[in-house]
Amino acid sequence: MAATILDGKEGAGAVRAEVTEGVAAFVARHGRAPGLVGIQVGDDPASEIYQAGKAKAAEACGMISRRLVLPAETTQAELDAILDDLNADDTVDGMLVQQPVPDQLSEPLIANRIHPDKDVDGFSPINLGRLLRGEPGSVPCTPSGVMWMLDRAGVPLEGADAVVVGRSLIVGKPMALLLTARSATVTVAHSRTRDLPALCRTADVLVAAVGRPEMIRGDWIKPGAAVIDVGINRTDDGLRGDVHGDEAHEVAGWRTPVPGGVGPMTIAFLLVNTLDAARRRVGDTNHTGDTT
Ligand code: NAP
Repeated sequence: MAATILDGKEGAGAVRAEVTEGVAAFVARHGRAPGLVGIQVGDDPASEIYQAGKAKAAEACGMISRRLVLPAETTQAELDAILDDLNADDTVDGMLVQQPVPDQLSEPLIANRIHPDKDVDGFSPINLGRLLRGEPGSVPCTPSGVMWMLDRAGVPLEGADAVVVGRSLIVGKPMALLLTARSATVTVAHSRTRDLPALCRTADVLVAAVGRPEMIRGDWIKPGAAVIDVGINRTDDGLRGDVHGDEAHEVAGWRTPVPGGVGPMTIAFLLVNTLDAARRRVGDTNHTGDTT
């Protein structure tokens, strides 16, 4: 039987509609809209597309969105000064620096410099620590979006065997923590994992966050599994995920397409994180998490 498609465009639309309502209520209560600042260093075309998409989405749900495009040769000290100004700016509830950054800049220094309360990517040590401890905070957007899709589809997680392929700080590791928090039994695989196909075949929930087009084939998938494809790979044949979509479709119980799966959910959860950050900053904690 063919897999049920987990439609990220539809899901993101539902989340964004809730955020839009939440923003309107926030404006009514506090007299201002939540503010998001996207910072881009250099003119990488992919970063440009991502940043423009995030800004447009924030505006569409009623937030105030600002984009800063800094010269490619911006130094760490110059960027730090800008981040400090934004940390001190009361109209700014959330900020993010688009990755990757030029070589003279340090991602860990950036993650440490952004105030944790304004870190809507959820990459700061404080927010990652909160996630590890199960405390409220900003959770990285992509894994949050994946959890929402799994829940929306009613995929059983408690006691499920989950395999997360990829151990990055932005996807694989937080994904594993969120699945563990929901009582799945999680294995994190990576480039040194032995017999990855056999491991993947054990998964009731398989999350691929690798960056290798169509690496995961149909015969790696347990029949009926939920297969979440985080990968976004630009190939000569267009955008491809990390999973071979056509093959997965014949075996999986549920699967996310690429494009139109996890990608739109990531932006939707950036908006959730920004609204939640704004609510926390004004002490409007009764409403935090309404949208998730
Ligand atoms: P990353 O930082 O490059 O991490 C890739 C991970 O895959 C690493 O842990 C690496 O293992 C592992 N890996 C590489 N080759 C492998 C192999 N042959 N077998 C098993 N594991 C292998 O990438 P990322 O930032 O997590 O992103 C992963 C993919 O998701 C990319 O395509 C990216 O564009 C996409 N992405 C999509 C969204 C979205 O919104 N949909 C958001 C973020 C990322 P090692 O640790 O051993 O090197």
